[in-house]
Order: sequence, then C-alpha cells, then structure tokens
Amino acid sequence: MAKYIFVTGGVTSSLGKGIIAASLAKLLQARGFKVTIQKFDPYINVDPGTLNPYEHGECYVTEDGAETDLDLGHYERFLNTYTSQANNVTTGRIYQTVINKERAGEFLGKTVQVVPHITDEIKRRMLLLGKDGKFDIVITEIGGTVGDIESLPFIEAVRQIQWELPDDDVVVVHLTLIPYLKAAKELKTKPTQHSVKMLSETGVHPDVIVCRTEEPLNNDIRRKIGLFCNVKPDAVIEAMDASTIYEVPLLMLREKLDVICMRKLGISVYPEPDLEKWKGFLDKLKYPKSKVTIGLIGKYIELQDAYKSILESFIHAGAINEAKVQVVNVHSEFITDENVGEKLSGLDGLLVAPGFGHRGTEGKIIAVQFAREQGLPFFGICLGMQMAVIEYARNVLGIKDAHSTEMEPDTANPVINMMEEQKKIKMMGGTMRLGAYPCDITKGSLAEKIYGTTQITERHRHRYEFNNDYLEQFEANGLKASGVNVDTGLVEIVEIPTHPFFIGVQYHPELKSTVERPAPLFVSFIAAAKKYNETKSNLISSLLQKETV
Ligand code: GLN
Repeated sequence: MAKYIFVTGGVTSSLGKGIIAASLAKLLQARGFKVTIQKFDPYINVDPGTLNPYEHGECYVTEDGAETDLDLGHYERFLNTYTSQANNVTTGRIYQTVINKERAGEFLGKTVQVVPHITDEIKRRMLLLGKDGKFDIVITEIGGTVGDIESLPFIEAVRQIQWELPDDDVVVVHLTLIPYLKAAKELKTKPTQHSVKMLSETGVHPDVIVCRTEEPLNNDIRRKIGLFCNVKPDAVIEAMDASTIYEVPLLMLREKLDVICMRKLGISVYPEPDLEKWKGFLDKLKYPKSKVTIGLIGKYIELQDAYKSILESFIHAGAINEAKVQVVNVHSEFITDENVGEKLSGLDGLLVAPGFGHRGTEGKIIAVQFAREQGLPFFGICLGMQMAVIEYARNVLGIKDAHSTEMEPDTANPVINMMEEQKKIKMMGGTMRLGAYPCDITKGSLAEKIYGTTQITERHRHRYEFNNDYLEQFEANGLKASGVNVDTGLVEIVEIPTHPFFIGVQYHPELKSTVERPAPLFVSFIAAAKKYNETKSNLISSLLQKETV
C-alpha cells in the first residue's frame, strides 16, 4: 500500500497548487521514491475536453488518450513519467460512474446519496493508483478553493481517508496566500487562519501549511500562523514568488517541505535528493548565451494558459540550446497580406499553433506563406500543420480554393478532410483521435534528422487529416509527407526539403516535452532559429562594415 499526500488550496485560486504538488513530487522522486500525482476537479464536465481554452486553459492529452487538466502537463514535465486517465477525475466522472451503477441496478433498493455513494466513489479513485504497488507515494491535488460548495464531497472523502488509514499514511498540505499590505508594510495571516478554520470545520486538519507570499516570512509570522492554525512552526512553509516554476522544487527543498511530509509519513531513512540533472537544466535556463525570438501565431493568445505546453517546451528547448527564447504572441485574426511583413518582422522562427474553428485561420495561412517564402524557420502543430498544407495547395499548387472541411464543409478542394472514422461520430466528448499513435519516418528526411530514428510515437487530438487524394500532387511539387501512420495511412508529418527548416506535424509534440527529455522537434526548431538569427546578424554586420568602408 502506498502513502497519500493531499494538497488543498485556500484563500484564492491560481496559487499554483499544481506546481507545489509537482515540486513536492519531484523532491520525493529525487530521494528515490516512486511517486505519482493526480488531480481531482470539482466541475461537472466529465473531462475538460469540451471546454473552451478561455475557460480552462489548454487541454492536456495523456498517452492513453485522456483529455485532462493542464496541471497533468506540469506533473509529467517535472517527473518525466507518464500520467493516465486515472490521474484526472472530475465530479462529472464520479457522478457518471455512480449513476451508471444505479441504472445497472447495483444499489437496488437503496437511496443513492452524496454520502456514502459519491464519497465512496471518490475515495475508491483517490486510493486506486496506490493499490498495485507501482507507487510508494500518491499525491492528490484537490482543484478549487476550500469553502467552495462543489469541492465539499472531495474534502469529505479526504476526511474519511484520514480517519480510515493509519496516521502515518496520510498527509494534508494546505496552500494559502499571505498577502502583503504595502501601505502597512505588513504580511497578513488572517485569510490563512480563516481558510484553515474552514477546512477544519469539515473535519480535515492540515499537517503542513504552504504560504504563497511576495515577502519572506519571519519567525514571528511562522509562529503566529503555526499557533493559530495548529501546526508546528516548522510545518509552515514559505513559498516565495519564483522567477521560474522550475526553481520551485529547490525553494521547497530549502524549506524542507519534503522532509516534513516524510516525517508525518513515518519515513525516517531517506537518501539525499539527486537533483543533478534538474540543477544542470536550471543553470542553462538562467544563464543563456544567446537569444532567439519566436512568433507564436494563435487565436487564444490573450490567455497564456491556452498554449501552456508549447510555452514550456520552448523553455526546455531553449535551455538545452543555451538560448533564451523570447516568445512574441501574434494574434492570427489580425494578420493580413498588407501587414504580415510588419507583424512578423524581427522574428527568428514561426510557430503556428493548434486550434479549432474558422476564426483566425486565414491569418495563420498568410503567416505560413511569409515563413515559407522568406526562408524563416517554420513549425506547424496540428491546425498549424493543416494551415501549412492549405497554404501550399493555394500558393504553390495553384489550387486557389483549397481548404479544410472544418472551415468550409463544401469546399471543392478539401486538402484537409474529416477522418473517415470521425464522420459517423455525433457525441463531442472524448471522441477525437486522441492519445499516442506510432508514426514511421522517411529515411533521410528532416524529421529523421530531428528524431534520430524512423519510429516514433506522439500524442494526438484532432478530427481532421491530410487528404491523401492530393498526396502525389504535393510530393511532386516539393511538400513531402515524411511521417505516416502505417496502419491507417494518415500523414503525420509534412516538410519542405528545399527550405532551411519547414515542418508541420499533425500530432502534439509539446505534450511529451519534459525538463529531462525536451521534445526533439522543439530542440531542433530553436537550433534552426538560432542559426537564422546568427546568419541575420552576420549579414547586418557585414552590411554595416561595407557602409563604413
Ligand atoms: N481543428 C483541427 C482538427 O480537429 C486541429 C485540432 C488541433 O489543432 N488540435 O483536426
């Protein structure tokens, strides 16, 4: 049986529970424990797959094709291990299971209630990953803020687990905010006291309090929080704002968050954490030797969470290239033939982002054309790849009305088409082509150079595909399909061999990029952008030299 750590949040949302959970997990993993993290979300959607990115940020897809909360992305990026369907549970999924059981007659004769039926199902799922010996420690992040009506059944389940399991099998970590009042020059503990009181009223008492703060907590404040919230002063942990989320594990190590959790878990013998690789990455991240500017062309750019995994992948790839990646967000809806040169000037590479629906697609197509014609490194992901195919069809093959049936269902030239198996699907939730699929890469292609192999698997989330009726025409005219799923014939990668770096992928390589295993496509894209930047700088300096001569 595994041991369990629960992470709750108080005072406000967006305190970074996911990062604290992931950092704690990282430290325990670095000390040799097998750790996993799961997230329980209080909303009624069965999963976040049907949510607009504006609502909930990016939808993160696991190997086994679950559409999940973006915090699972942090868990994978920190731990360098895969999560699965079981690692993200919503109220909707809990109710769906219980209601399906009720319909099947499993509770025959009984009134089905929140307690015990809903809470039993929550408990079953909370304990599940710790059952088969695969993990020593299971960390569960409870979404939402303590005091929300909708998270009550989850908190009640934690209370019951705390009561049922031996004392040293469960730790509750509560993350709160200690606001700093500038006028009074004071840190305020009252909101934390209230939130711990509220948590205690439900019967759950935190063992550790992690305090998000802009100013350091002195010993008096720690004592005060400890005294009023009834935890030991050394179990009051300071979580200062960090310059990068990847610094947080080291901050938590300094505060002994892992040691205090292990003490409560009755673990007294443990090795020093092995964080060599992590620190190596941080060094490179903090002291880059060069800088590249990448344009991120998307339509959800107002909300950074919408492209979370892409932005994190840039950080991983930048570090390994010892380059700072500055991302310039360009709203695709406002790119026109007239302003494209100005909007995309000064960039060293262009990433056209994934997306759904018509809005902003014409701007993406114009951006692709610019990158293709200017020899600017180009990287298209999912919809970004589809836009590259449409652009090539229109401007190189001369098929002026080429389109995707997603945007124009009656187009005469559907170079991007709905996948056959998608045509009969009516239900929206969890019905896209999801999760990991293998892809065979052509020998000698750019893709092979990037991956260093001809066999890969990558994760998907889409309904449309490259239309193979046009494949010959594309290939004869310079756009090659260099990656194909051999079972289905679906084109997964396209590239232009005559361009310095032009690649589009139907899958989402950003979902597999971690600190210790940066996604090869991002690494090579940043390397190409670096080269572009150097060539550009050399050109400018030789022009300047000529002028001065
Ligand atoms: N909308 C496109 C499709 O469904 C692309 C999806 C995406 O970019 N994730 O195929």
